[in-house]
Amino acid sequence: MTAYDVLIIGAGVVGNAIARELSRYRLKVGVLEKELDVGMGTSSRNSGVLHSGIHYTPGTLRAKLNVQGNEMMKGLCRDLKVKIDYIGKLTVAQDQVDIDTLESLKAQGETNGVPGLEIIDRDRMEQIQPGVGGIRALHSPTTGIICPYGLTMALADNAHENGVRFHLGAKVTGISKTENGFTVQTDEGGSFESKLLINAAGLYSDAICRMLGLTEYTIYPCRGEYLILDKRLNGSLKVLVYPAPRKGGAGLGIHLTNTVDGNILIGPSNEYVDRADDYACTADIIDQLKKEGRELLPAISTSDFIRGFSGLRPKQTPPAIKGFKEFVIEARKDIPGFINLVGIESPGLTCSPAIALMVRELVAEHLPLEEKDHFISERQGFPGSFDDLPEEEKADLVAQDPDYGEIVCRCEHITKREILDAIENPLGSKTLAGIKYRARAMMGRCQGGFCMPRIVQILEQDFGYRPEDYRLYSRDSYLFTGRVR
Ligand SMILES: Cc1cc2nc3c(=O)[nH]c(=O)nc-3n(C[C@H](O)[C@H](O)[C@H](O)COP(=O)(O)OP(=O)(O)OC[C@H]3O[C@@H](n4cnc5c(N)ncnc54)[C@H](O)[C@@H]3O)c2cc1C
Repeated sequence: MTAYDVLIIGAGVVGNAIARELSRYRLKVGVLEKELDVGMGTSSRNSGVLHSGIHYTPGTLRAKLNVQGNEMMKGLCRDLKVKIDYIGKLTVAQDQVDIDTLESLKAQGETNGVPGLEIIDRDRMEQIQPGVGGIRALHSPTTGIICPYGLTMALADNAHENGVRFHLGAKVTGISKTENGFTVQTDEGGSFESKLLINAAGLYSDAICRMLGLTEYTIYPCRGEYLILDKRLNGSLKVLVYPAPRKGGAGLGIHLTNTVDGNILIGPSNEYVDRADDYACTADIIDQLKKEGRELLPAISTSDFIRGFSGLRPKQTPPAIKGFKEFVIEARKDIPGFINLVGIESPGLTCSPAIALMVRELVAEHLPLEEKDHFISERQGFPGSFDDLPEEEKADLVAQDPDYGEIVCRCEHITKREILDAIENPLGSKTLAGIKYRARAMMGRCQGGFCMPRIVQILEQDFGYRPEDYRLYSRDSYLFTGRVR
């Protein structure tokens, strides 16, 4: 049985940020993840916005960790080569009631420590975002956009490089408290012992609690659906534009969000669902998103909608109550050694590095934290894809490695070398989704129509994989079933 000092359940952005933070110290750290790759849950299914911290009540964890996480993200993304852009946000007022809301958001943000907030008039609004509607806006310059799956995977890769072991496809099915820690059973990964156990299981964090007899937490999944727009509209939005929140409105409302890769997202919707794996995209919501998206950006044409996806908010508040509840981040006194994270919904992506620091302090109450001599803080490579590099750098790379000279994904201009690197990822993940999120192949207009057969061929010819073993992302999502030839 493998024994760890610290075992983390869940390899989303939160679990991986904690793993990377703990990998600075002389600790044996393991991560158990039920999916075949990291970041396949909420962490790859969100808006990818780096929130500034104006929306959260002063004194709450969400407010504090948001502002701290936002500040930390710049250096972290530089070190880990993750795409990030502090493009800023306009929260737009249409009338006097909205202007009062902007004043209170500004005051709240300032109390939370958000820098640079300003209420601006129409002329300034027009300079920042030509054509924007509304009569006044709150400008928050520290709002940004980030690649959510890029960050989640980079944190894991870097933690792995610093000695953390990832057990993918290992679903935790039972936990027993022992004298010195915990014994954790998984369905396909065997059993593990650990002195400390960290619950970062997102939508299933309540199920992990129940395995230890804690019944006070329930997660109510609340689905947000999105549509992705073609890059044709790249550049239409210079900043994020949100309406001023209205009383009784759910979440931050449906809005347009630029992604770091040049697409625009419309969404998210807000609908409680029964199952924590119900990632459906539904006809009614798709129609609603199309309608509202066109109202916000009339230039959208039918052929601009290239794909839908959805994410699930791990809400602690049931449908009858709605709203938000404070994050739970606690070291349980009744179960010594159990560090419990529940209800990490938005802005959990933004908060993730700050959550990791908070958890590090909770770990330090149980185990001595001695820094390693050689923590590797930076990842090799470049942020984004080969296509983003200046022409001379591209030419140099092609001269060094001809695989940079073969474009496999025509829509996103992804080279064979980038596909090979994604296949040979440090964590050993072997799914098509892993290749997609790592290399950005299959993410363009055609959604893999052209490049997926070539990728399948590379897997077979260069790596000797059997096509009947290929999976899209989850354990049972076989790509080819029955006869393949
Ligand atoms: C629609 C939507 C929009 C959002 N937009 C933003 C945004 O713009 N900005 C922002 O800051 N935040 C945003 N968020 C919030 C953010 O995405 C989450 O707070 C964050 O991703 C939570 O990360 P996590 O690691 O806690 O959870 P997850 O990413 O869900 O990770 C938990 C992991 O635990 C694994 N797991 C579960 N059970 C087990 C088990 N039994 N054994 C082993 N592994 C298990 C899961 O497979 C999963 O990989 C949004 C969320 C949603 C849903």
